[in-house]
Amino acid sequence: RLQVEGLMRSFGGRQVLDDVGFSIPAGQVTCLLGPSGCGKSTTLRIIAGVDMQDRGRILVDGALVCDTVFRVPPERRAIGLMFQDFALFPHLSVAENVAFGLSGSKAEKRARVSELLERVHLARHIDSMPHALSGGEQQRVALARALAPRPRILLMDEPFSGLDERLRDDIRDETLALLKEEGTAVLLVTHEPHEAMRMADEILLMRDGRIVQRGAPYNLYNAPVDRKAAAFFSDIN
Ligand code: ATP
Ligand code: MG
Repeated sequence: RLQVEGLMRSFGGRQVLDDVGFSIPAGQVTCLLGPSGCGKSTTLRIIAGVDMQDRGRILVDGALVCDTVFRVPPERRAIGLMFQDFALFPHLSVAENVAFGLSGSKAEKRARVSELLERVHLARHIDSMPHALSGGEQQRVALARALAPRPRILLMDEPFSGLDERLRDDIRDETLALLKEEGTAVLLVTHEPHEAMRMADEILLMRDGRIVQRGAPYNLYNAPVDRKAAAFFSDIN
């Protein structure tokens, strides 16, 4: 469970996050949805520990991860990351990429790598190099890599936006199935209402650095908080 409380962040005097707070229960997919520039990636970067808030704090399973004086370094937060370009290490094989963040014995690592590659239907590519894979296949390897160390929380920033439009819904569904099997708590950033409607247990609707509405996808769609929110959801196809 991830708790975010009262995050404030400004850049050059401009308030980019204004009292952002929410919590994400275990095993649930939460989508942070909002238009370009509203502060989604900034929120994710602070949770990941690669940027710092001016005020507010973050807890994972009740333990403080950071406030304005205390800070657990990013690599010790048990928080996984998957960004838009999902860059795999080009000089490492598929298996080596997935094993990258793993500790334990060789046999344990190999078992975890095989298990995940089978579940993303890439077992036959275990020894391939990333450049030999399609975009969709690379995305699945990146997902396997992010999930391999069993992070408490997985942060995903527009993870499908680099993919061919025709593939996206299939990959969204496959990704969701794997996330549910693993039981990982996920915070997924998107600016596409369609994606949030399809994937989220709960949506956090963000605008101008604030969470303006939160709830189940159906509720946000049927009872938008204001006209702007209604307009935002109206162009779902
Ligand atoms: P998008 O959907 O386009 O990715 P976003 O919601 O992820 O948008 P952010 O990247 O969080 O938006 O940026 C929010 C605002 O903060 C933007 O106006 C951006 O220009 C500004 N911003 C973000 N990072 C910095 C920075 N390091 N320095 C200055 N301004 C920044
Ligand atoms: Mg962004």
